[in-house]
Amino acid sequence: MDGKTLEQIRDSLLEKWRKIEKHVVRDFEQQEDLQSAHAEIIDIAQSLEQLGRDASLREVERRELLAIERALAKMSSGNFGVCEECVEEIPARRLLVLPEARLCASCQAFEEKQTTRSRLSGASAR
Ligand SMILES: [Zn+2]
Repeated sequence: MDGKTLEQIRDSLLEKWRKIEKHVVRDFEQQEDLQSAHAEIIDIAQSLEQLGRDASLREVERRELLAIERALAKMSSGNFGVCEECVEEIPARRLLVLPEARLCASCQAFEEKQTTRSRLSGASAR
């Protein structure tokens, strides 16, 4: 991968990072408002539902922030763009679309299949 492509990918990672970070901070501020506004409203079910939604949203964002941090760390240590599974180089065109990718397309597809399968067997065991 040439330096220009790498720079382009790093820029898009940083942009993503900033966007999510801003969103998380704003989300947090909104929740502060929500708490004071709801202090006198006794609609527990509604506020619990709201909190549950917020928590899951933050979980997704938190995971994405971690993935971005990880990609940036790999960039600075010089092993960015290498599949963590098969150690093959991840094509630049994939990284331009999904800069935080840890795996190449085929390893990713395999992992997703495994995850779906274990989720399904876990559900039937219950
Ligand atoms: Zn791979």
